[in-house]
Amino acid sequence: MAEKPDDKKITPRGQDFAAWYNDLVLRAELADYSPVRGCIVFRPDGFAIWEALRDELDRRIKRTGARNAYFPLFIPQSFLQKEAQHVEGFAPEVAVVTHGGGKELEEPLIVRPTSETIINHMFAQWIHSHRDLPLMINQWCNVVRWEMRTRIFLRTAEFLWQEGHTAHATREEAERETLTMLEVYRNFAEEFLAIPIAAGRKSAAERFPGAEETYTIESLMGDGRALQCGTSHFLGQNFSRAFEIRFLDEGNVMQHPWQTSWGVSTRLLGAIVMAHGDDQGLRLPPAVASTQVVVVPIWRKADEGDRVLTAARTAMQALENAGLRAKLDERDGVTPGFKFNDWEMRGVPLRVEIGPRDVAAGEVVMARRDILGPAGKSKVAINEVAARAAVLLSEIQKNLLAQARAAMDANTLRPSNYDQLQTQMAGEGGGGFADIYWCGRAECETRIRDETRATCRAIPLDQSHPPDRCIVCAEPAPERALFAKAY
Ligand SMILES: [Zn+2]
Repeated sequence: MAEKPDDKKITPRGQDFAAWYNDLVLRAELADYSPVRGCIVFRPDGFAIWEALRDELDRRIKRTGARNAYFPLFIPQSFLQKEAQHVEGFAPEVAVVTHGGGKELEEPLIVRPTSETIINHMFAQWIHSHRDLPLMINQWCNVVRWEMRTRIFLRTAEFLWQEGHTAHATREEAERETLTMLEVYRNFAEEFLAIPIAAGRKSAAERFPGAEETYTIESLMGDGRALQCGTSHFLGQNFSRAFEIRFLDEGNVMQHPWQTSWGVSTRLLGAIVMAHGDDQGLRLPPAVASTQVVVVPIWRKADEGDRVLTAARTAMQALENAGLRAKLDERDGVTPGFKFNDWEMRGVPLRVEIGPRDVAAGEVVMARRDILGPAGKSKVAINEVAARAAVLLSEIQKNLLAQARAAMDANTLRPSNYDQLQTQMAGEGGGGFADIYWCGRAECETRIRDETRATCRAIPLDQSHPPDRCIVCAEPAPERALFAKAY
């Protein structure tokens, strides 16, 4: 007999993290595999999370002064050649369109892997004077990078993202913009997604192709591997020179503008799953949950049903009136226990249970998803449901961040010599952030990567500690850097 999907258990997280992740994404109906290799289907529950974070981040981006626009999916192949590092970085993973309408194209088109080239081509036509600056554009779109090894949300051939592109009159202003967006991302990840962030600069080896400096927000997932959650690049004048963007400055001198680009993608959905999920399933931060509160009426005898349902609808109405996203689970023919498990698996932050005895007592039981069992349950007078739910949701949002931060802190070690670093990273179970002194030289970075599989994730901006010696070569090391095995 075929197993009903509902009977399928999620692989325990501690047993096989990768299998747990896949089981969870599929069972919670966030996404599905597609017939096209490397591409996924975002199901409504997954897409709703993307919509919530997109809407919030869009507001925050607009507050910085950027405006949304939309550029074509196809880019003339020759555009990619214009910036040497950019073409080297992206050419291996570009999809090329050679035919259209049954004919071979005169010039092949690439499917955008990122839009620096086409946007800067347009910037060259729009920017003439210092009065045209700053020019700050954001685009929400899909991009394609031909990945051979894919994982749902984390690495897919096609993904959704936003990409910001700005041009400024001075280096200082562009550098400030790069850091402003880094801070927008850091704040957004922590406040809205409840994901703790280590922010910093990338090493030269990890820099965006064509950037002078790349900044990153990184987090640590439940298996001790780091996930890059967003990047902000200072592009210098590399693209404005390559695309011949010029403006007359206030002194009537022709200049190339200074530029930035920055983005986050649907990879953040994977970050939410991995940062917060447990063996029972998803745990969604209330800010992103499309259902924040589920109301589950419980009754056995038919004559109890009416009273319980009436009370449940009253509670539901109160929650909605308070502006909370609530759902009433009236499904017949499934047990309350099944419903509890189902909503826990889908990550709904708060559950309201109402049975006949609760109705008689004029109260309900509230159960938190972030604290399972009796410790997360409380009784509340039915007329206080909405007020109490709002308080609990805000606590849950904070607690998820606190739990994830505690896990990240516990997995951030400071090995004091190279042996300790190797021990920390050894084997499948090894990982976490290694906060180490590194001289900044590529040889030492490469050796760490080759021998431990850890790469430089971020060089924190705050370096308020005395200089010391590199953990690999013992040469002077002015800075500490976070190394980890990464997605
Ligand atoms: Zn070194």
